[in-house]
Amino acid sequence: MSDSQPRAIPTALVSAFRGAFGGKPSGVWSAPGRVNLIGEHTDYNHGLCLPLAIPRRAWVAAAPRADRRLRIVSRQVPGERTIALDGLLEGNRGGWAAYAVGVLWALEQAGHEVGGLDVVVDGRVPIGSGLSSSAALECAVAVAAVDLFGLDGYDGEEGRRALAQICVRAENDVAGAPTGGMDQSAALLARADEALLLDFDGAPADTAPVHVPFDLSAHGLALLVMNTRAEHSLDDGQYGNRREECRAAVAELGVPSLRAVQPGDLDRVLPRLASEVLRRRVRHVVSEIERVTQTVDALEREDFAALTGLFDASHASMRDDFEISCPELDTAVETARAFGALAARMTGGGFGGSAIAIVPASLVERVSQAVTTAFADHRFREPELFPVTADGPARRDR
Ligand code: ADP
Ligand code: MG
Repeated sequence: MSDSQPRAIPTALVSAFRGAFGGKPSGVWSAPGRVNLIGEHTDYNHGLCLPLAIPRRAWVAAAPRADRRLRIVSRQVPGERTIALDGLLEGNRGGWAAYAVGVLWALEQAGHEVGGLDVVVDGRVPIGSGLSSSAALECAVAVAAVDLFGLDGYDGEEGRRALAQICVRAENDVAGAPTGGMDQSAALLARADEALLLDFDGAPADTAPVHVPFDLSAHGLALLVMNTRAEHSLDDGQYGNRREECRAAVAELGVPSLRAVQPGDLDRVLPRLASEVLRRRVRHVVSEIERVTQTVDALEREDFAALTGLFDASHASMRDDFEISCPELDTAVETARAFGALAARMTGGGFGGSAIAIVPASLVERVSQAVTTAFADHRFREPELFPVTADGPARRDR
C-alpha cells in the first residue's frame, strides 16, 4: 500500500490488465483522494470549503470496447463486473462498479457519445475513510473516458469544472450517494502545494476555484492524515439526514440557503428556529463557512499559529453542534494536539473516517506514536497514519 513508488503502479496495472482481459490497455489514468482542510458539510449549503489533493490516488488502466458494456475489475475488490450502459437506472448498477459506470452514464446524459470500456482499477486511497476513494475512482474513469472517446470541452479549468459536475451526477444518481461536489472538484482541479478554495454558492463546481498557497514543508510543518479506520458510510443515511436538517432549517428561516445567514446575525436568527437541534446545525454551518474564510486569510499571511484556534473551533463545532464526530476521531484530534500538533480536526463527512493534524516536521513521529498508543489503550482498531503533501489533479499517467 506504500505510495513511495507511485511510478511503479501504472506499470503493474498494465500487467494486471493483460492478466484480466488479455491485450494491452490504451492507457493508464489516475485521480487523487483529498483531505479537506476546513469547511465540513458546507458544500451542499452553498458555502465554502478548502480541500487539497493527496498523493494517494486511484489508478485505472482502460481500453474501449466494441459494445456498450463496462467490464471492470478492482485490485481492492474480488470478482469481475460487467454492466450494460443501457437501462442502467432500472437494472443492476453493479455495486461498487456504479462509481465507474455512473460516469459513462452521466457523460451520455450530458450529450456525449461514449461506448463501453474494459477497466482495471488499483485504488490507493483507503476506502471509506473520508479521503474520497469514490471521487478518485470516478474522476480517474472520467479523464480516461474523455481521452478514449475524444470528448471535447474538458480541457482547462472550466472544462475540468464541467467534468466535476458530471462526476457528481454519477455519484448522486447512479451510485446513490448524495455528495455535494467538493470531492470531485478537488480530484479534478487541485494543484501541487496549494489548497483549493471552493465556493458552492450555485451548482456544484459552478464558480471558479481560488488556489491558496499550502506548502507546509517550506515552513517546517507537515500535514498528518490520521485514518481512524472507524466504519462510516455516506449512504447509510446519516449524511443525508444532516442534509435534510439543513434543508428544513432553510425552509423555516425562509432564506435562499444557509450561506445567506451572516455569522453576526446568528443571535437574531437562531431563536427563530423551533428545534434546538436545528439551531445547533445552523450554528455549525454558518460558523464553519466563516472559519474557511479566516483559514484562507491565515494561509495567505503565512500565519500558521492562527490555525490552532480555527481547527479547535471547527472540531468542537462538528462534535457538539453538527454531531458528526465519534470517539476515535476525538481521540485522534485530542492526542495529536496534546503531543505537539499545531492544529487538528476531523475531516470529511464524519461518523468515522479520518482526522488531520498540522504538525512540526520534527514531531510527526512522536505524534503518530502517541495516537497509535492512545488507540491501543482505548481498544480501538489500529489507526493508519501518514504524512501528505498537496498533490496535483487527475491526469494521464501513460
Ligand atoms: P470514501 O469516498 O470516503 O472513501 P465512500 O463511501 O464515498 O467513501 O466511497 C467508498 C466506495 O467507493 C466503496 O465502498 C466502493 O464502492 C467504491 N470504491 C472506491 N475505491 C474503490 C476501489 N479501488 N475498488 C472498488 N471500489 C472502490
Ligand atoms: Mg466518497
